[in-house]
Amino acid sequence: MIVTPSQRQSISRRLLTWFRRNARVVPWRSNRDPYRIWVSEVMLQQTQVATVIPYFERFLRRFPTLAEIAMADEQEVLRYWEGLGYYRRARSLWRAARHLNDGGHQTVPDDLEVVRALPGFGRYTANAVLSQAYDRRVPILEANSQRVLCRLFGIKKDPREALVREQLWQLSEAILPARSVGDFNQALMELGALVCTPSQPKCSACPVRAHCQANSQGSQNEIPVRAKATATVAVNEVAIVVGRRNQFLLVQRPDEGLWAGMWEFPHHPLESMESLDAGARRLLSTIGLECGPSIPLDVIRHSVTRFRITMTCLQATYRVGVVRLAGYRSFAWISAEDLAHYPLSAPQRRLARRLMASNTLARQGRVRSPKASG
Ligand code: SF4
Repeated sequence: MIVTPSQRQSISRRLLTWFRRNARVVPWRSNRDPYRIWVSEVMLQQTQVATVIPYFERFLRRFPTLAEIAMADEQEVLRYWEGLGYYRRARSLWRAARHLNDGGHQTVPDDLEVVRALPGFGRYTANAVLSQAYDRRVPILEANSQRVLCRLFGIKKDPREALVREQLWQLSEAILPARSVGDFNQALMELGALVCTPSQPKCSACPVRAHCQANSQGSQNEIPVRAKATATVAVNEVAIVVGRRNQFLLVQRPDEGLWAGMWEFPHHPLESMESLDAGARRLLSTIGLECGPSIPLDVIRHSVTRFRITMTCLQATYRVGVVRLAGYRSFAWISAEDLAHYPLSAPQRRLARRLMASNTLARQGRVRSPKASG
């Protein structure tokens, strides 16, 4: 597919003009600090702009420079990331910052080769940061820009196929202007987020509709080809809050996989036809503990990819045993107050809040009861 020079000039001019008038006001666009742009790009992966803004501001208050995050503890970085999900991003950010700091860099350098070798920097992130921070003439391709390009050039093949994707990268490069590349790349993504939306694109307000093949063919709703919906799978889990002398058992997940390095109350899926009691006994046996009778604490429902998880949470008092890691990285007995310092996944934080609330009620009950009886 050939993009003529006049097509390129017209598309880039229209998009840049539109972007300067319509771009959302977001904190990472206030200057061209490469570190800030990098943090924003990492947070924005899989996450909406409105969700990212408060996290970005809080994160930058605590870690205003690359040196600050490089010198921080991984657990603290995860704690500041908590709630954004996809924690691998935070760990890669922290590792890359340490690597750069150790190499004497005070920010992300204007060097594509160095940046691409860092943890968490794929083709998109490297190009997005360097084009916005240094106006490097490199293209970007993510979900929003991909949708715009497919419609603009009438691409009816599946953009998840490797060859189609490579074609899209080439088109993304072919329409780059000579200057203001960072703004242009952001404009392409912003157009996809605000105008060329997945359903019901606002073509009448689109600055590039004169060039758009989908618009001229009326095929906006068929392009891009959608992925087949994957069937959801229901999973039942049991979680146990084990208490021992005003402390609770937390375990730390391994270095790889889902929620790597985060902390949690022990939990696992029930086996087929397994009762809650049997699943709880199996869980306690796996972590090497015996407890008194368990009492129900909460039921927490959440989703991870295609899995719809129902986690029944129990509370039990430690009797005997030594904690066995059973695949976990480490464990800790901590007080309810210290829960705030440990990075937990969203469902586990909900469980922690529920525990705090029930503890508070129990304490209030203990305080109130003498008055009531007196
Ligand atoms: Fe998207 Fe419509 Fe603009 Fe084409 S004209 S790029 S389909 S918003």
